[in-house]
Amino acid sequence: MTTCIYCGNAFDPDKPTTTICRSCWFGGRYFEEQRPSLIAALRQIPGIASASFDHTGGGCWGLGVRLQDGRFLFAVVALKDSETGEWYGDPSLPEPGEPWTVGVYADDDGGFSSGEPLTYDLPVTDDQLIERVRVEAARIETKENV
Ligand SMILES: [Zn+2]
Repeated sequence: MTTCIYCGNAFDPDKPTTTICRSCWFGGRYFEEQRPSLIAALRQIPGIASASFDHTGGGCWGLGVRLQDGRFLFAVVALKDSETGEWYGDPSLPEPGEPWTVGVYADDDGGFSSGEPLTYDLPVTDDQLIERVRVEAARIETKENV
């Protein structure tokens, strides 16, 4: 048995080098620990229902932000095509400090089932990602105040 470095629960690792339990791994805890200021900044924005690192299957991850009106922002790595110079999104997380692709979806079902984003931006920095979420979240308040 091993003790999880995050939650302290005892678990039986598949490999002796594993230090994170399945629950913390699939809950995105490892990625949160890599980017504590980013996830904290997102969670402080009014209008955010949740912000988490979400496993989308097949070893793929993204940063999912659910807004209180049901819209969903999903951020993955932005990569640059070495031949064309064009940026594109790939369904995995960037290394901390590397750029994101962020899409806005009607709901999280659309985001996870590869629905078409309402809009998307790339490449964006952590600060630009926070600002993008802030702008989308502010639109909720505007609607509510009408
Ligand atoms: Zn754990």
